[in-house]
Amino acid sequence: MSEAAQGGVIFAAIVIIAIIALAWSAGRHPMSSCRSCKGTGIRRSWLLPGRWRNCTSCSAGVINRRPL
Ligand SMILES: [Zn+2]
Repeated sequence: MSEAAQGGVIFAAIVIIAIIALAWSAGRHPMSSCRSCKGTGIRRSWLLPGRWRNCTSCSAGVINRRPL
């Protein structure tokens, strides 16, 4: 096996390990904060100061994602 091919194998192994680590971490941490309301559960009005409504795309700012 040439040196360049060995480097490619090592790179592929690192990528595979990183993907496994990401999947494992996502499985361990299924809850995520909502991106629309930044985890607050409240969508503020951009027009009227002090006016807001509940975020419709999450429950109280928390989204349960599985597996990723
Ligand atoms: Zn939300």
